[in-house]
Order: sequence, then C-alpha cells, then structure tokens
Amino acid sequence: GNVIDLEKVRVTFGGKNKVTALSETSLRISHGEFVALVGPSGCGKSTILKLVAGTLAATEGNVFVAGREVDAESARIGMAFQNPTLLPWLNVRDNVMMPLKIVPPFKKEFSRKKRGEYRDRVEASLARVGLAGFGDKFPWQLSGGMQQRASLCRALIHDPTLLLLDEPFGALDQFTREELWEIMQQLWIEKRPTVLLVTHDLKEAAYLAGRICVMQARPGRIVDDSEVPFARPRT
Ligand code: ADP
Ligand code: ADP
Repeated sequence: GNVIDLEKVRVTFGGKNKVTALSETSLRISHGEFVALVGPSGCGKSTILKLVAGTLAATEGNVFVAGREVDAESARIGMAFQNPTLLPWLNVRDNVMMPLKIVPPFKKEFSRKKRGEYRDRVEASLARVGLAGFGDKFPWQLSGGMQQRASLCRALIHDPTLLLLDEPFGALDQFTREELWEIMQQLWIEKRPTVLLVTHDLKEAAYLAGRICVMQARPGRIVDDSEVPFARPRT
C-alpha cells in the first residue's frame, strides 16, 4: 500500500503577507520506493518533508502516513538533514543510540534490555559508514563529514521503515558524498525502507532514486513525476 499519501495539500504561512509554500499537491509513495524531490530553493521540498514527519500541519488537504493521519510517534521514521545535528554533550555512541531510547518499539525495552546488545548494534552501524572505533569521540572531535556519517547512523539505527532525508549529502566533499551514496544504496537494497530524499543534485537523484519529482516555486508544486528509466542495481 501507500506509505505516504498527500491529497490536494495546500500549505500557507503568515498573516497579512501570505506565502503559499505548497499548492494543490498530491503525492503517493508506495512501500519500498526511493523517491527524490528536486527543485529550486523555496519550492516547498522541506515543507513536504515536514508534513510527512508530522511537524507541520497542512492548511488544506490530507496527509496520510502508513495509512493513518500522520503521527510521527507511530510511524517508524528516520531523519537526516544537511547539517549534522548531533548533541554536543553526548559522544557519538550515545548520539547514535538516541532513537533507540525514544522510538517505539525500542523505547520500552531500552532499560530492560542489555545495553551491550545495543552497543554492538551501534558499533556495527558505525562500521558500515567507516566510523568503526569512533563511538567514544565527541562530535567536536570529528570532521564535518564524519559528523554527517554519524548523523546517518542515527537516522538508520532503529531500522526505520520510512527515511526522510533533507540534503544529507549536500555539504560533503565529492569523494565522501559518492561513498555515502553507495552506502545508502546498499542499505536500501538490504532493508528496503521507503525513502524520500530532498536534493539539489540531479546526479545524486538519478543515482539513488527510482522516481524523481521535480518541483517549481511560487507557488510550490510538483510539475513532473517520473520513473528513472536507466538501469540501477535492484534486488
Ligand atoms: P525548499 O525546501 O524547497 O527550499 P521550503 O519548503 O523550505 O522550500 O519553503 C517553501 C516556501 O515557504 C518558501 O517560500 C519559504 O520561504 C516559505 N516558508 C517556509 N517555512 C516558512 C515559515 N515558517 N514561515 C513563512 N514562510 C515559510
Ligand atoms: P542487523 O542485521 O541486526 O540489522 P546490521 O549489521 O545489518 O545488523 O545493522 C546493524 C545496524 O546498523 C542496524 O540498526 C542497521 O539499520 C544499521 N545499518 C545497516 N546498514 C547500515 C548502513 N549501510 N549504514 C549505517 N547503518 C546501517
């Protein structure tokens, strides 16, 4: 079924000088799809992610996630942003572990379950992104690219069924970016989460996504929605 279903959504901000961030937008994404949203600044890409994450309400229309009216607590969502958002007072391990403490179904078991099991899981995840052995470091001891790798681990650690990615590779050097593309693609092939990726990078969209939605600003809307026609690794 559909993991994401936006029905004729409109989002308006402001009082007197109203800004229509999103106009008449419908978007259906089914289970296991990898969809990229591309378009100029201000076209409403982040607004769509916020609607799906449940941190912003639509002014008009309906937003369903996993068949229900959106509820970030119940859908198992992972998120990563352009800038790493690690908590500076926690080491990398505790940062990456954070979703296991706050997201069901892990939350309930966290205190009961052996912390060691979760440590192994975090170590495995860090190793996947080239951060093996960095669990004890604090964010300020890592480069920007390494912080972004850790942020990606945190987004993935609870095996989210839905991944919302807002330019997570945007601030990285080309080498790191392409390495993380491969890691992300591998993860998608293995676990098949539904992914909604916002990016400015058309090459990135074409490399990772099976479907690309092109947006336009003023008012923000989707003007094209296409499958990526050329071959890419699939299971
Ligand atoms: P994108 O992610 O594509 O750059 P956004 O979704 O962030 O675009 O923004 C879409 C439009 O809505 C822009 O014109 C932006 O200025 C406006 N907007 C976004 N958030 C707010 C807000 N909280 N208050 C007022 N206007 C906003
Ligand atoms: P498991 O089979 O128990 O999920 P994995 O070694 O596949 O063990 O993964 C351990 C943890 O690392 C899981 O939370 C998983 O979601 C996460 N993970 C898996 N692949 C990657 C990856 N490519 N990058 C970062 N984390 C990953």
